[in-house]
Amino acid sequence: MNQDNFRKITPYVPGIQPGFSDMIKLNTNENPYPPSPMVGEASKNFDAGSLRLYPSVDVGPLRDALAEYHGYDRECMFIGVGSDDVLATVFQACFNSGRPVLFPEITYSFYEVWARLYNINTCKIPLKEDFTIDADAYIGVDNGGIVIANPNAPTSVAMAKSEIERIIKNNTDNVVVIDEAYVDFGGESVIDLVKSYDNLIVVRTFSKSRSLAGARIGYCVANPALISVIEAVRNSINSYTDNRPAIELGVASVKDEDYFRATIKKVVATRERLADELKKLGFRVLPSSANFVFAQPPAGISAVEVYEELAKKHIYVRHFNIKGIDNYLRITVGTDEQIDTMLSEVGRLLNK
Ligand code: PMP
Repeated sequence: MNQDNFRKITPYVPGIQPGFSDMIKLNTNENPYPPSPMVGEASKNFDAGSLRLYPSVDVGPLRDALAEYHGYDRECMFIGVGSDDVLATVFQACFNSGRPVLFPEITYSFYEVWARLYNINTCKIPLKEDFTIDADAYIGVDNGGIVIANPNAPTSVAMAKSEIERIIKNNTDNVVVIDEAYVDFGGESVIDLVKSYDNLIVVRTFSKSRSLAGARIGYCVANPALISVIEAVRNSINSYTDNRPAIELGVASVKDEDYFRATIKKVVATRERLADELKKLGFRVLPSSANFVFAQPPAGISAVEVYEELAKKHIYVRHFNIKGIDNYLRITVGTDEQIDTMLSEVGRLLNK
């Protein structure tokens, strides 16, 4: 067959999902704890008969629950199939000027993939030496939009709200997307700034802090005019995105604030212990505001070696073969027990 008309593209490569029953999976920033018991109840009570009907076209009940949760009108909310879906739709809807979209050189690698898929020009801005994002590098620069993950991935480093606001306020002609996938673990959210800036889109996910990666729920908050543009693009591809069970489980999760807060507290406590223990083993660990740490092994052993040795024991962490971070590992915060097993294995590798 003649393949000249086929699209050739290098896709995003997600962390591997091995199927070993004894594995310790610290490679895709999932939450080690289950979702709220209320989500379990909603799942048990789900009416399978309702599946014969399409779901609500505007993700009605979940949209309303999130609007109330964040104190916005429902017209300010857009819900998608995970935040990847939301981001991909935002890229298509908002970045059509031909001018370069700015994002950090080291960040969530899917941004680059969507840009290529939708033929969006980009300009990647280097991080500072300490892996922080330089707000000044996004100000006074001709651009067709800006995307920043806060906290950034895979570095785990957060940016101050005041610095983000400086970027937003100095780019009022362009859309600024703040991807807050990990913000619940310690970053400062800018969701309240949507009230003041009509060029701001804040993207969130249920995959990390709400332990619902498997339900695929993401959303964004923005000015209603921007939401209409995003919706028009989504409705030009697929009108019914989030499915009925996901909508019900999502609503149940939003209702259980106590469980949500308690789970975050546990993850953050383990993260601090993990960072301290890695430092004791000689690792350089970046200051994390997320549910993972980004760490460089001590001299004498490379990140790849640690990665490979851990994988032999069915302990999975993430390594990126990307210049500048190829001697770092991204380690998701697991349960205390999982982290202890991983740490003792690393200690053994280092003969400590
Ligand atoms: N943004 C960032 C920065 C991420 O790390 C991820 C997780 N891979 C996502 C968005 C997408 O998450 P999801 O589609 O599960 O909401």
